[in-house]
Amino acid sequence: MAVQQNKVTRSRRNMRRSHDALSAANPNECTNCGELKRPHHVCPSCGHYADREVVAMVDEVEIDEDAA
Ligand SMILES: [Zn+2]
Repeated sequence: MAVQQNKVTRSRRNMRRSHDALSAANPNECTNCGELKRPHHVCPSCGHYADREVVAMVDEVEIDEDAA
């Protein structure tokens, strides 16, 4: 196992971690349904992208528990 040669001080450790913070998401409204969605992504609630439906959505999926 590699062993560090010098102690990493609190200061150096915190300087390294200064870039680790996650930036907040920047959601915008879907032009079709108004739900908040990630920019440049298909709307997860209605399946639209750029004013057309690209992913078909179903209201309810019936699960047959006896099928398995
Ligand atoms: Zn939508």
